[in-house]
Amino acid sequence: MIKGQNYEKKGSLLYLCVNFMKECSNKVSESVFSALLETLLGGESPGREGWRMLLSGLDESQAARVRDAASAVVRDRFGGGVYVRGLIEISSYCRNNCYYCGLRRSNRHASRYRLTTDDVLGCCREGARLGFGTFVLQGGEDEEQDDDWMEATVRAIHAEFPAQAITLSVGERSREAYRRFREAGADRYLLRHETRNDAHYACLHPAEMSGAHRRDCLRALKELGYQVGAGMMVGSPGQTVDHLLDDIAFLEELRPEMIGMGPFVPAAHTPFARHAAGSVDLTLRLIALMRLRFPDALIPATTALATLDGRGREAGLRAGANVVMPNLSPAAVRGQYSIYDGKASWGSEAAEGLRLLEQELNRMGCHIAYGRGDYPGRDGGPK
Ligand code: SF4
Repeated sequence: MIKGQNYEKKGSLLYLCVNFMKECSNKVSESVFSALLETLLGGESPGREGWRMLLSGLDESQAARVRDAASAVVRDRFGGGVYVRGLIEISSYCRNNCYYCGLRRSNRHASRYRLTTDDVLGCCREGARLGFGTFVLQGGEDEEQDDDWMEATVRAIHAEFPAQAITLSVGERSREAYRRFREAGADRYLLRHETRNDAHYACLHPAEMSGAHRRDCLRALKELGYQVGAGMMVGSPGQTVDHLLDDIAFLEELRPEMIGMGPFVPAAHTPFARHAAGSVDLTLRLIALMRLRFPDALIPATTALATLDGRGREAGLRAGANVVMPNLSPAAVRGQYSIYDGKASWGSEAAEGLRLLEQELNRMGCHIAYGRGDYPGRDGGPK
């Protein structure tokens, strides 16, 4: 077993071994698998070819051992606590036209709504009563919920709930807007990069959008002191293993505090409505691998996982995720935020279902971690 090896170091025994193996078979031998795992557990990157083997060369028993290792790491770091974030879907209007999304502006079948600041504050009051330590405001890029509106809304939430963390997920804005939101009280920002590969990005988005701009936004958010969430859709149309390797390289460069990865779920009335959904297994593999690479990261078991597989959320938590985001949106609009088909937003996916969630977690030997749940180091470490 060779610890801390980078598999791209030309001339090293492992480099030769790995490349020989690649030529002979897609399967990873036990000794190489152990070395890859040790490398990750030692805090090092296995390099592009190492990641390739971990993504596409493992057998089921090796994949299970990756998940077990990730589960042990998350337990060690977070003690079985799973953070809950109250998700408030503030608007289903969007000026963008991403090909995969049910909220895209060209979808005339989408039902549209937007919450007022008072509506959002009402959700926060309910969330605070239920014990949420973080509110996540998520919406399409709604031109009526402009920078002034967003800043005023964040300021109002922060004034009434100074102890709660505020996470925004409202798309690409100017650096100045991000600065204003931060100054008004926002702590975190979720902006999935979706795919690091520009050609792939262009398959998923119209020409007026660019992956480079999105990455610039992520870097600006980092510089402004946000805890930043990046991530990708797993199994999005046209995605290859190499695209995922590009994504991992980007995450290693950005080092986001949060990593969101959910399987692609097709949405009706979009160009990809008939495309197959992404793989739950591959999503779980990625969750486990990112947990091993970023032990302190906040990684959600996404709603998309729960949507595709009734036990998807539990599987995500067992594979190393440590965050769930129950839906705190007003019941009247919850079905309307339809980014993809069949989105789970009731039962233990709903804020009112916290007791159900607690039972689910207890069965797994976990519990809800109340409190803000900042990235370790921001508030003295995980609770
Ligand atoms: S993915 Fe986001 S930015 Fe793109 S259309 Fe949907 S809500 Fe708008």
